[in-house]
Parts: sequence; structure tokens; C-alpha cells
Amino acid sequence: MTEHYARKRFGQNFLSDPNIIRKIVDAIRPAVGDTIVEIGPGLAAMTDPLVERLGHMHVVEIDRDLIARLKERYTPERLTIHEGDALKFDFGTLGAPLRVVGNLPYNISTPLLFHLASFAESVTDMTFMLQKEVVMRMVAEPGTEEYGRLSVMLQYRFRMARLFDVPPGAFRPAPKVTSSIVRMVPLPPEQLGAEDEELLGRIVAAAFGQRRKTLRNTLRDFIDEQDFAALGVDPGLRGERLSVTDYVNIANHVAKKGVSA
Ligand code: SAM
Repeated sequence: MTEHYARKRFGQNFLSDPNIIRKIVDAIRPAVGDTIVEIGPGLAAMTDPLVERLGHMHVVEIDRDLIARLKERYTPERLTIHEGDALKFDFGTLGAPLRVVGNLPYNISTPLLFHLASFAESVTDMTFMLQKEVVMRMVAEPGTEEYGRLSVMLQYRFRMARLFDVPPGAFRPAPKVTSSIVRMVPLPPEQLGAEDEELLGRIVAAAFGQRRKTLRNTLRDFIDEQDFAALGVDPGLRGERLSVTDYVNIANHVAKKGVSA
């Protein structure tokens, strides 16, 4: 096979360390009968051992050269290849329960995580490799520097755990940063609690839009001093001090008042 040159615009860094590949596949724990989709199979570093254990799986890949290689390598009975952009892919078409895995293209990781969150109801779990810095933001606790919109919106929907780190040397070409493996398990729908999730999203975006400003300023279009008092939230705080539950309470309070900022 001809050499494939890593394409920066598709965030291509290919896993090449067999011990790390084994460790990731073990962490996924694939079982015959699971419906698994891998985002960005690339040169099939993870796909190979996964297909080996599963018999069949799905992949979503955008790079035509890589798709051509995958078609040469696997029959459709073993691999269903969905050609195109994972950001636009309807994961709902693969049926439920679905397991999602991938060494994600880092340049689109945040929008991809938000896109995937919209399919949480049909998903059992997701295991991803991402930039460590992004994983630290996903699992961050209130009051820390890493805690922000990504933390609140993902923690609202998922239980998440950082499993282990992967050094740059495990890839070809080596990225500049350390990566981490994160597991995301959707919370049961009855535990979520926001009456209007779109409104929750807007409130969280406003609270973290200007990180240095207090809630009194950032949430002024949604709640006033009386509301803060009723909610027991200090308006002099900044957005990073509030828990996910605080944001859900604020959103439900606003929904009840019927305010649409
Ligand atoms: N899984 C391989 C590995 O671990 O060696 C490759 C990982 S590489 C970091 C990211 C992969 O995602 C590449 O194969 C790239 O072509 C693919 N990719 C990039 N953007 C994509 C998108 N928007 N939709 C689907 N695949 C994408």
C-alpha cells in the first residue's frame, strides 16, 4: 500500500503504539452483538482489533483516500463505511443501543461532542481519545479554571471519567499535546431535570460568555435580583462558581416565569 500522508485539516495523527492500541480497545470492552461506530478510523489502528472481536462494526470517515483503503481492506459484511462528515452524520440511523468510539479529530472536538450529545438517548456509552486539555474541561469541577460551558453542558447529560493519558509518542505524526481517554455514559433521561434544554444552553452560554463578569451582569436578560434571592444564588458570583444543578434550577425558574430572553 502507498504511504498516506497525514492531513492536518482532518486532524490526522495516527496511533502507532501497539500497547496503547490494546489498552484503548480493552477499555472499550467490545462484545459480540454490540453495535459500535468508530468516528475517524483513519488507517484502522483501532478498527482492526475491534472488527476482530466484534465481527462487524460501523465507521464514519471523511477522507476519501482513507475510505478507499478501508474498502480494499474490509468486506461490507465486516465493516459498514459511512462516508462523510461526522458533524453532520445522523447517529440515530444506526439504531439503539449504540456504542460510539474514536480517536477524534482534535480540530472539531467541541462541536462534535455537542453534536453527539444530541443522540445521547440512543447511546449506551462513548469512549474517546481527545486532547487532555479538553478532557480536563469536560470533567472539571465548579470553581476551577477549566470549568466552563463544555463542563456544564456535558455533565448535565453524561457521567464522565478520564481513564488514562496517552503521550504524543504513541502517534505518527506526534501531536504537540498529550491526549486522554474519556468515557461518557448518558444519564437516565429522568435524572436530567431541565424543562427546556435549549433555554438551559442559552443561560449557560451567557454565564460563561464573559467569564470575568458577575452573574448579575451576564444573566440580566434572564433573571433579576428577586429571582437570585428566590433561587438562593449570590448574583455577585461568576459563572464558574455554580454547579450543574444551580444552572438547571435557574433555567427551570426562568421557564416557569415565561421569560424568553
Ligand atoms: N482512528 C485513527 C487512529 O487512531 O490512528 C485516526 C485518528 S485521527 C486523530 C482522526 C481521524 O478522523 C482521521 O482518520 C480523519 O480523516 C478523520 N476525520 C477528520 N475529520 C472528520 C470528520 N469531520 N468526520 C469524520 N471523520 C473525520
